[in-house]
Amino acid sequence: MKVSVSTKRPILSPCGLKDIEYQVDTYVGCEHYCYYCYALPQAETDWSEEILIHKDIVDQLSLELDKIPPQTIYMGYHTDPYQPCEAEYRQTRKVLELFLKKGFSASILTKSDLVVRDIDILKEMNDAAVSVSVAFNDNKTRRLFEANTMDTEKRIEALHKLKESGVRTGALLCPIIPYITDAIQLIDMLETYAGVVWIYGLSINDRSCQNWLNIQRILNSQSPNLIEQIEPVIFSKDHSYWAELRESLEMLKKNRKLNLNIHI
Ligand code: SF4
Repeated sequence: MKVSVSTKRPILSPCGLKDIEYQVDTYVGCEHYCYYCYALPQAETDWSEEILIHKDIVDQLSLELDKIPPQTIYMGYHTDPYQPCEAEYRQTRKVLELFLKKGFSASILTKSDLVVRDIDILKEMNDAAVSVSVAFNDNKTRRLFEANTMDTEKRIEALHKLKESGVRTGALLCPIIPYITDAIQLIDMLETYAGVVWIYGLSINDRSCQNWLNIQRILNSQSPNLIEQIEPVIFSKDHSYWAELRESLEMLKKNRKLNLNIHI
């Protein structure tokens, strides 16, 4: 993987999430290269070959943080802060050290268990939170859709360790790919370790988007009939598939008293 320096740009940026005002992406691009990724259409490089890092991330971000009061900053919106090159480049760890020094906290979303490395910093923060994102029940299917991520079980084991060390945990069940993702079974795997689970379906704007072309290519090579089944569901929020799944999830939430945030 080629890692190059990006053009200079603000590191702290507005965050679209409720209750969190700012986010930091420690990398530009994402080595995990999930073929359904909603950020793919805006990719600056081919993520299978090159990603970018900020030059002097600590010095620049330190100046930007001086302009706002201490608060929780989101990490993991456009790129994964624990993608494989983080093991060497430690951009995310440097940012967490800076947050801690300046009295900020972090809310992190990742598909990697490398986050466990930084438990020592996270548990010192004021109410840091880590969520893992999962979408596939078996790792053979996961490898088809997410080129460079790690096993679902390893992500859940990371949640276990985080929870044990007192860090607030959650899970993002996303994207639910119709007829492929078994959401109920994934919740069975997650419920012990995730304090909250957010659930979202696959989001694709239109049929010309790179992520839809990628999914078509994968399904064509594996199970062409599945495309005919999946396509109308993905492009219709009103499809009965979503209504039935929503009903099952609502029932599960009620019966097991789970903290599920259902957005399908
Ligand atoms: S880990 Fe997230 S940001 Fe990275 S490619 Fe996958 S979906 Fe996109």
